[in-house]
Amino acid sequence: MKSYRKELTFNTKNRREFINITPYVEEALKESGIKEGLLLCNAMHITASVFINDDENGLHHDFEVFLEKLAPEKPYDQYRHNGFEDNADAHLKRTIMGREVVVAITDGKLDFGPWEQIFYGEFDGKRPKRVLIKIIGE
Ligand code: ZN
Repeated sequence: MKSYRKELTFNTKNRREFINITPYVEEALKESGIKEGLLLCNAMHITASVFINDDENGLHHDFEVFLEKLAPEKPYDQYRHNGFEDNADAHLKRTIMGREVVVAITDGKLDFGPWEQIFYGEFDGKRPKRVLIKIIGE
């Protein structure tokens, strides 16, 4: 069995952003040479997510509105976590959107359903943060 590991780094301009990272993940899969197996992709920070959904701008806006209803960024003092930090909302948003995805690899490709794309969800950006890709198989 082969194993391959790679880290990606993202430094977003805004506090919150969604980035389609599918091309980076496909590149890592190509580098690995693995044709059959499993690919794990996870955020390495507790205020960011990796998730699978549709690459559609309206939907990304809807996610932003949905997450702000559940865990609004402001006022900061509504959260106990915000003593020395102001990112309690980002921890909560990350928990809703998830930490990682696992994708089957078949015939050297990500074995997606219709419209599936992999996203990095940043909820407390403007600093370098990492995503891990781990691929196992043969
Ligand atoms: Zn925090």
